[in-house]
Amino acid sequence: MNRLDHRDPLVFDTHELGRRPGALRKVSRTLEAPEGLGIIDVIGVPEKSEIELDLRLESVVEGVLVTGTAGTVVEGECVRCLEPVEFDLDVDFQELYYYPESDERHRARTSGTEDLDEDSENETYRLEGDFFDLQPVLRDAVVLALPLQPVCQEDCLGLCSECGARLSDDPAHHHDAADPRWAALQGLSAAPGDEGDGTKNSGTREGLAENQEK
Ligand SMILES: [Zn+2]
Ligand SMILES: [Zn+2]
Repeated sequence: MNRLDHRDPLVFDTHELGRRPGALRKVSRTLEAPEGLGIIDVIGVPEKSEIELDLRLESVVEGVLVTGTAGTVVEGECVRCLEPVEFDLDVDFQELYYYPESDERHRARTSGTEDLDEDSENETYRLEGDFFDLQPVLRDAVVLALPLQPVCQEDCLGLCSECGARLSDDPAHHHDAADPRWAALQGLSAAPGDEGDGTKNSGTREGLAENQEK
């Protein structure tokens, strides 16, 4: 029946809270981050880095309402220049863990509002005995708070497409040598341009006129 590992620091025991609705208990815990807390290969909480949890457990009729905050650090890579990105992250979360035996009642009650609440029903959490696993709730809260496109600074200029230099380090960076691809593009735009030729011709005529006036 109990599949939760009670030694897991993200598994909490509600035994002392009791089941009288209105009972409150606060729990603080510092733990090491589990692996995979974040967006894989983009940004996340490094495994074993410190997470500070403050939880407020409240006994309600259907289960235990868990309200909490988690403070930690996240590390990733700037999507523009690939420099490491690191910042503090504080997330809030709230989740109701239903009592195991409230299972059937809950299903009966939500079946009528399936259309309205399809997503939240998929994310229904339950106590196992007196225990609940905070990991999926913490994971959702962290992932939602993370930027999908982390940048080292809002105006990061990224990398030079030609040599890979980090442009924010050297905003004046440029290459003098004409890129053959650029030359080809310029050739294309000039070729069908009668206007371009016309401008050139009139310029020549004006030049001639000036010369004649002198
Ligand atoms: Zn950057
Ligand atoms: Zn360059």
